[in-house]
Amino acid sequence: MAAFGTVFMPQMALAKYEDQQWGDSEIVSSDSISLHPGAHVLHYSSTCFEGLKAFRHEDGSVHIFRMDANIKRMAQSAELLSLPAFKPELLEQMVKDIVAKFADEVPAAPGSMYIRPTFIGTEPAIGKAAAPTSSALLYVLLSPVGDYFAVGAKPLRLLLEENGMRCAPHMGMVKSGGNYASALGPISQARTEVDADQVLFCPGGDVQETGAANFILIDGDELITKALDSSFLHGVTRNSILTLARDLGLKVSERELTVDELLERAAKPGCEAALSGTAAVLTPVGTLIHNGKEHTVGNGEAGETTLKLRQALNDIQWGKAQDQHNWLTSI
Ligand SMILES: *Cc1c(COP(=O)(O)O)cnc(C)c1O
Repeated sequence: MAAFGTVFMPQMALAKYEDQQWGDSEIVSSDSISLHPGAHVLHYSSTCFEGLKAFRHEDGSVHIFRMDANIKRMAQSAELLSLPAFKPELLEQMVKDIVAKFADEVPAAPGSMYIRPTFIGTEPAIGKAAAPTSSALLYVLLSPVGDYFAVGAKPLRLLLEENGMRCAPHMGMVKSGGNYASALGPISQARTEVDADQVLFCPGGDVQETGAANFILIDGDELITKALDSSFLHGVTRNSILTLARDLGLKVSERELTVDELLERAAKPGCEAALSGTAAVLTPVGTLIHNGKEHTVGNGEAGETTLKLRQALNDIQWGKAQDQHNWLTSI
């Protein structure tokens, strides 16, 4: 199977911002943009993106999961990066148009169509290190993806990093390119040195998130995860899982979690940990590596509650359970 995100549909939806206004969105070839080498994004990282998915139901219909939440987050990222404002309706129409265009290509369960809205500052002006771009491109790419859980069913190994940070604290809730480049050094080092799959960033002992997914600890009937603040990315999957957990009668605690408490709880039999994200869905964590020591989470296997919550989410996405929270948009 091709690696996640390496296959693209041949066309994308695109809209241009120029002379203080948005043009109409168009469907164009996916390789059709050209940028001046001095474009603002290439020098000053004026860029943000989103990741969401469309799912095919058994009756053949296609549904986009939590599009409103992703568009809202993109608008917030854009604002925090001083990129031009856009109307949510513009991006909504672009997403719907391109998914409708390639509706036949949306894989059936357990696959899905990954949707990647992208926003970049294009003004050719290298003198604008301290000024916003005056022109920008908004586009929506599509990439069909398979079931990465079946392949990677082995629970993840996470290195707990207390000294470094994923990104600058005020950039945590912005889904922007530079944040990922900023986390690559520590992640590559953790892979080579302790064979970790990901780094769980815990600056000063505060358990935050990994490079591209949120962290959830499940201890008995309680889910514990960091309360929302501006230091980390507010995952739509995180919100969905917490909502489904409440629906199932579990206790949800959004609060600070220290490395000490995490390690103490993780050692208990029956404790579970997982990463949440659009690509990861809810992926079990089996091992925490801290100060050269390996700590098994519960029995080290995928937890029962983790699998139950993952299934509950997938059932809504694939139309096998009722969409009680109105999370799906039909195409
Ligand atoms: C995208 C992302 C997440 C997960 O967000 P979802 O909306 O659930 O996909 C978590 N952390 C980071 C840093 C991310 O980039």
